[in-house]
Amino acid sequence: SSASHQVREELAKQVQLKKVQARVIKTGCFGFCKMGPLVVIYPGQTLYCLVKKEDVAEIVEKHLLEGQVVERLLYEEPASGERKRRLSDIQFFRAQYRVALRNCGLINPEDITEYIACEGYFALADVLLNWTPAQVVDAIKQSGLRGRGGAGFPTGRKWELAAVAEGPVKYVVCNADEGDPGAFMDRSILEGDPHSVLEAMAIAGYAIGAREGYIYVRAEYPIAVDRLERAIAQARQYGLLGRRIFNTNFDFDIDLRLGAGAFVCGEETALLRSAVGERGEPRPRPPYPAQCGLWGKPTLLNNVETYANVPVIIREGPAWFASLGTENSRGTKVFSLAGKVLNTGLIEVPMGTTLRTVVFDIGGGIPEGRQFKAVQTGGPSGGCIPERYLDTPIDYESLKQLGSMMGSGGMIVLDETDCIVDIAKFYLQFSQDESCGQCTPCRVGTKRMLEILERITLGQGQMGDLNELEELSREVMDASLCGLGQTAPNPVLSTLKYFRDEYEAHIRDKR
Ligand code: SF4
Repeated sequence: SSASHQVREELAKQVQLKKVQARVIKTGCFGFCKMGPLVVIYPGQTLYCLVKKEDVAEIVEKHLLEGQVVERLLYEEPASGERKRRLSDIQFFRAQYRVALRNCGLINPEDITEYIACEGYFALADVLLNWTPAQVVDAIKQSGLRGRGGAGFPTGRKWELAAVAEGPVKYVVCNADEGDPGAFMDRSILEGDPHSVLEAMAIAGYAIGAREGYIYVRAEYPIAVDRLERAIAQARQYGLLGRRIFNTNFDFDIDLRLGAGAFVCGEETALLRSAVGERGEPRPRPPYPAQCGLWGKPTLLNNVETYANVPVIIREGPAWFASLGTENSRGTKVFSLAGKVLNTGLIEVPMGTTLRTVVFDIGGGIPEGRQFKAVQTGGPSGGCIPERYLDTPIDYESLKQLGSMMGSGGMIVLDETDCIVDIAKFYLQFSQDESCGQCTPCRVGTKRMLEILERITLGQGQMGDLNELEELSREVMDASLCGLGQTAPNPVLSTLKYFRDEYEAHIRDKR
């Protein structure tokens, strides 16, 4: 934010003015959004929160010159009121386990040497010098990694399909078209650690036999685009992209494709069409991108967070990664925590962590003493989960069983003051606006559903509307071509399932 820039500039100025032996380093996001701008002082890992430009002189004077802590800028735990000094002592960070976000907030994303200092590009070197492509595919399969973009398809299986696909030309693509309301996981990884994605794509290129990669990134993410461009240029300069990487016969380079902000372009077939300049509309599958993707060639497509896990899986080994999480959902998951929760921000937890831990331990609970009502997961494709399921361990299957979805990782907490019908209407409106209009059930069905929801919130609904909503939902889900239409009714169905009394109260009380 501009406030963070001001703090950093002031810090650099004061450090120079007072001749302090310290380096001021810009990093990507720490994830503790509610408490920003943040300043961490090393050694000692002291975290200062909500720092303003006017606080900087005191930090420099007191902390850097006199070795004392500026108490008033330390984080205060909401539960105990205790002030915590070290970043790793704060509950928000303590309950997390960072794999995909490992470097975010730690390194300067605009300096490749900082990534290399954190063992960056070690996995690529190891793979190119010591592994066969089949061994790489095998490692990803054994790790149990599943796609973090929403569907949860096994990543190793995808790599295998692309590796065995016939053809001299293949492509590796990264889906950075994050579009769910309230989701900013991929954006933070690209802004905070762009090389982790470049390294993973080069590893994928080696594994499947591709020499070119493309990152399809939203143009509305200008900082991410800028950092990716810098990272690609630096990687080329260091011989980590381009010809004969690590003096092997492996050539691989990456280019960007900017998306114009259509949510449907996050769907893989629409993305691949848009990336080659066609209209971004989904097409029926098969053929799958692994057989027929960019320019009709075999293409491997994964999202940002999926790729960010790859270098660590290679370095630490698939067994290590598979030891995290649950039986069918291995590893960790990044979530953007938003809505009525004290600590909004970006978090990463092992799969299997309960919703209660996320909302109350990491999130710090509901502000102003209000009651928790529900947590919305999975964005417009997901649903609202009520309090009685707060102890559900988060994984792909358990969220689906509850009528919601993992999705890409958006998590919005609702409190007792939120109207559940308004929430369902908001998400359905989003899907309706973003429908590409190709198929009638999605284009018209969601519009009819929206009209019913509007009637209900205006106090003009009838009890029969609820059954009609359910019937229309089923038809839209069954007859739509792509994931957008197939999941658009989820927010309505899940709220009807768990909060039907609220719908009925609107109708009965005519409000
Ligand atoms: Fe387009 Fe909706 Fe059909 Fe998907 S389901 S192709 S978004 S009209």
